[in-house]
Amino acid sequence: MKKIIAGNWKMNGSAASLRTMLDAIAPVQTENTIIICPSFTMLNTTVPANVKLGAQDISEYESGSYTGDVSAKMVADMGAKFVIVGHSDRRKNHGETNETVAAKAATALAHGLTPLICVGETREQKESGQTMTVIEELVRKSIPTKPSAPIIIAYEPLWAISTTGIGLTPTHDDIRAVHGHIAKILGDMGLDGTVILFGGSVNGNTAAEIMAIEHVDGVLVGAKSLEPNDFIPIIKAV
Ligand code: PEP
Repeated sequence: MKKIIAGNWKMNGSAASLRTMLDAIAPVQTENTIIICPSFTMLNTTVPANVKLGAQDISEYESGSYTGDVSAKMVADMGAKFVIVGHSDRRKNHGETNETVAAKAATALAHGLTPLICVGETREQKESGQTMTVIEELVRKSIPTKPSAPIIIAYEPLWAISTTGIGLTPTHDDIRAVHGHIAKILGDMGLDGTVILFGGSVNGNTAAEIMAIEHVDGVLVGAKSLEPNDFIPIIKAV
């Protein structure tokens, strides 16, 4: 079954390293959808037929006096097809709330971008048994009311992210339980069939087994999306 393999480059890379990555992916035969999300400055890049570009964030506003912000229209104009919203880096470092995230996702949809809406619990929330309630609130509140086109949810337990968490991959049972829970909530919201990605220290050795879990429709990859030798094995894993 076709999967989505998305790379979040965060504040890393350069125009040259993106070119190297795109040239390395170009000959790879895959039915999977490959998305690379570099910094805004690298979005205006010609991509091979098997890669789509995404932004890492957008403003929730259309235009105006928002110095330093970048709008959905601007990233769409540069060729982006996707945008990550509500990544834990943004929620933590920029105080983004569920309401901001939902507004950004709505703006993305209005401009033909597919939002990858990130949700995930902290280590403390997991250890105190709150994962399912926290995830339910994040999912329900970070999705715009009646989205006008498909959205994507990325479940990224904060403690599993390689650079900001403790880099532990959850057990397959953990992933299965949370993805099943998210699928049920999405069903209750009338959003059956919404793609759900997993993110958190995914690498070439773990990708295939993770993507074989029920309701895991692909992966969102940070650290291991920066170098072709790390990222291409993930693309080829399924
Ligand atoms: C991320 O931060 O979106 C992420 C999944 O990072 P990593 O793969 O490095 O854990």
